[in-house]
Amino acid sequence: MSSENTAVLIKGENLRKEFQSRVGGKRQVTRAVDGVSIEVYRGETLGLVGESGCGKSTLGRLLLRLSEPDSGTITYDGTDITNVNMHDYRKEMQIVFQDPAGSLDPKMKVGDIVAEGLELHKIGSSRAQRRQMAQEQLLQVGLGPECMDRHPGSFSGGQQQRIAIARALALSPRFLVCDEPVSSLDVSYQAQIMNLLSDLQKKLGLTYLFISHDLNVVRRLSDRIAVMYLGRVVEQGPADQVCTSPRHPYTQALLAAVPVPDPDVKPADMELADISASVPENGCAFLPRCPYAKDACASVKPQLKEVAEGHFCACHLFAEQ
Ligand code: SF4
Repeated sequence: MSSENTAVLIKGENLRKEFQSRVGGKRQVTRAVDGVSIEVYRGETLGLVGESGCGKSTLGRLLLRLSEPDSGTITYDGTDITNVNMHDYRKEMQIVFQDPAGSLDPKMKVGDIVAEGLELHKIGSSRAQRRQMAQEQLLQVGLGPECMDRHPGSFSGGQQQRIAIARALALSPRFLVCDEPVSSLDVSYQAQIMNLLSDLQKKLGLTYLFISHDLNVVRRLSDRIAVMYLGRVVEQGPADQVCTSPRHPYTQALLAAVPVPDPDVKPADMELADISASVPENGCAFLPRCPYAKDACASVKPQLKEVAEGHFCACHLFAEQ
């Protein structure tokens, strides 16, 4: 994990992001991302998993500079991009959102949606050429030329997500944040989109940050997995190791909850703790839910430590290793 590692495509260092709100007249601060350092290697899929509200989508947006960090740095392909104008880098890094229907303008034709970024970045010499390029992108995601002049609303959820992927790929990015890309889809479409993302990665040499609350989904596509809990990465390592030999009690709880027979039923004792009321300021955020807590957990924030080659865990149970 050296800063000189040329295998790293994008890196966030000590990223922090807080959101302020008022609840019952009282000011409340939520540390969405609380000092996270993360690296994504060229050509890999890094799965980012955790419950809703743990900060994983915010972290993805920070890496893309779609949201500005309160502090910390972002390095892309060896260049510090924390404060640069992102226009040129936008081509390199794109995002696919959870809800394709919400992310596609219902009034635009599909061909224009896919070609919009090309026009913005002045790629292609004419509208006809950009439409041709858009058509090729649509073919790449399994949609024929007859789709070009239809509106997104006339497609299924799975097809809409294909359109969103074609739009993201139109600018030939190298880094793609996939933010819960199959969560809103029927089960029958989920496998198709996962297979498509996997095929595109192999064909185009893409690098993915794949965000999901569902460890089952993440483990299918990921080379490595980072587990987030209340704004911090608590475990990170090779996907097989994290899933078959989880070290952090939270990862163990997530795995114990997989599969959940009824998606509407949350696993016992896994409700998100109230960050301001329950979590010790200087201790481990998982303390209120942890069956293994010891004295140090209330007063010392555990830091990521290497527990096996390339496998890191932030838990006092591993302090002496
Ligand atoms: Fe549990 Fe302590 Fe480890 Fe936190 S540091 S997960 S409270 S044992």
